[in-house]
Amino acid sequence: MANKAVFFDRDGTLNVDVHYLYRPEDFQWTPEAVEAIEYCHQQGYLVVVITNQSGVARGYYTEAEVQRLHQWMNEELARQGAKPIDAFYYCPHHPQGKVAAYAKECSCRKPQPGMLLQACQEMNIEPAQSYMVGDSPRDVEAGEKSGIQGVLYTGGSLLACVRENID
Ligand SMILES: [Mg+2]
Repeated sequence: MANKAVFFDRDGTLNVDVHYLYRPEDFQWTPEAVEAIEYCHQQGYLVVVITNQSGVARGYYTEAEVQRLHQWMNEELARQGAKPIDAFYYCPHHPQGKVAAYAKECSCRKPQPGMLLQACQEMNIEPAQSYMVGDSPRDVEAGEKSGIQGVLYTGGSLLACVRENID
């Protein structure tokens, strides 16, 4: 049987957006983000992060640093007694990037649906039973392009947002 998932944007949704975040010491969860992740798991959803990280293409930090921060997020969830995020997908590209290997148009940078489509395929996720939660219209758009219902998070408790919008 197929899985269902709640896909979360990262910056501005799970954590306070401080622009080009990569250091754990600068990371701050948004209100009740951990509880929102726990709620989704309790409701039988996979929890997957879908994040644009153009800071890689811009030369502000490396892919290894992105991956290290994601590992740290899961360690932090474990410290709080919560299940880890099931998977992280990030787009390191940007058309105007300074780092040649990442300076390109791609199909993964939101609002393109590439990361969502890849996750659904790799994790056997049914789009019609899943949600994309993010603080930007491009998150919602990426969801809609993938057949996934988009939910715009406008601040406040992320748990309340998820409870209101997810069955
Ligand atoms: Mg965001």
